[in-house]
Amino acid sequence: MKIVVQKFGGTSVATPSARNQVLKRIVQAKADGQSPVVVLSAIGQKGDPYATDTLLELINDAGPSVPKRERDLLLSCGEVISCALLSALLVGKGYPARALTGGQAGIITNTEFGNARIVEVLPEPLLALLKKGIIPVVAGFQGRTPAGDITTLGRGGSDTTAAALGAALDAETVEIFTDVDGIMTADPHIVGEAHTLATLTYEEVAQLAYQGAKIIHPRALELAKQYSIPIKVRSTFSDQPGTLVAHGVHSPGRLHLGPDRLITGIAHLPNIAQIKVQFAANDKQRETELFESLAQAGVSIDLINVFPETKIFTISESSLPAARHALAAAKFEAAITDGLAKVSVVGMGMRGVPGVMAKVVNILNSTGVEILQTADSHATISCLVRASDTQKALCALHKGFNLGK
Ligand code: ASP
Ligand code: MG
Repeated sequence: MKIVVQKFGGTSVATPSARNQVLKRIVQAKADGQSPVVVLSAIGQKGDPYATDTLLELINDAGPSVPKRERDLLLSCGEVISCALLSALLVGKGYPARALTGGQAGIITNTEFGNARIVEVLPEPLLALLKKGIIPVVAGFQGRTPAGDITTLGRGGSDTTAAALGAALDAETVEIFTDVDGIMTADPHIVGEAHTLATLTYEEVAQLAYQGAKIIHPRALELAKQYSIPIKVRSTFSDQPGTLVAHGVHSPGRLHLGPDRLITGIAHLPNIAQIKVQFAANDKQRETELFESLAQAGVSIDLINVFPETKIFTISESSLPAARHALAAAKFEAAITDGLAKVSVVGMGMRGVPGVMAKVVNILNSTGVEILQTADSHATISCLVRASDTQKALCALHKGFNLGK
């Protein structure tokens, strides 16, 4: 049996015509001799009646003391609605199908409601259906505890459901259907020249995602990598082949993706604030207090530069209230600049290659984008810039590194 997991996001099931496209993809898999296992997200996006954000608002209106178990039970309904509907549509077209909650599909989680981790996948319920030629339509983003309570896997968790089922069923591929043609060299809404990448390694995708590219849930990527399940990211609405994500080395039955490219793509993270704190050089106690006070306030920091007198780091703007409070409570005077963005050049091939930083600096300088701070790792060079310079910086880097077609 050639099992393929086909996961469709919220926009893919949002309208009758979109759902028709979904049916087309499932029917095509059948016609190709595959056994599809369908995983769905809740219908639509923020504002739509059955979207996760709408359900979240509904239960949050019940006040601050909503039990997490009850919140999860309500949130899980969004995916259940899409599955029951799509299964009915398949049956209506003459294809035997069965809608299943995550728990019914064998997804067992721990009891961390709201952000549950899958601890086991029991493949028997799905295998039994597949053997009978029935298409399982599984509610993503949810599972059940060993005691039978319904849990959710954290926002964006339908990808994780798909990857976990792919691993448990030893699927040939996990297809992540979305509303773009695949993983691109940059955000196409910002960089007109951005184009789809045909093949990527798990590491390249993880780096792009970590630097802000909205692609696939990191947990799903981890699972797919761990169990060597190839992922295909493609559009529900076009016949483009999409992006294949797999290992970079050749192994029997798997694709060889060739050598690392120098630069894979350009990613960005908006809504960043920079914090600068100064105190007497080498006051180790204050230095420790500074970082501990932020950690205790739950503020995650990035782009960290520590000099004897000056400490500079960035945080997400959403953490600003907590950071201001923590810094004031610990009596630190901080210079805070908000309205910034982090732009990153990402590529596994840049490791040990001289001149990449020089090129980044040269490109941004000659475009008139001021670099406020930088950081690098083996596979990324990140620059902090003003939010208003984001598009200019992304387009210049994309062009400068010849990422256009
Ligand atoms: N519906 C859930 C969310 O919006 C899960 C998903 O779409 O992956 O987070
Ligand atoms: Mg998603």
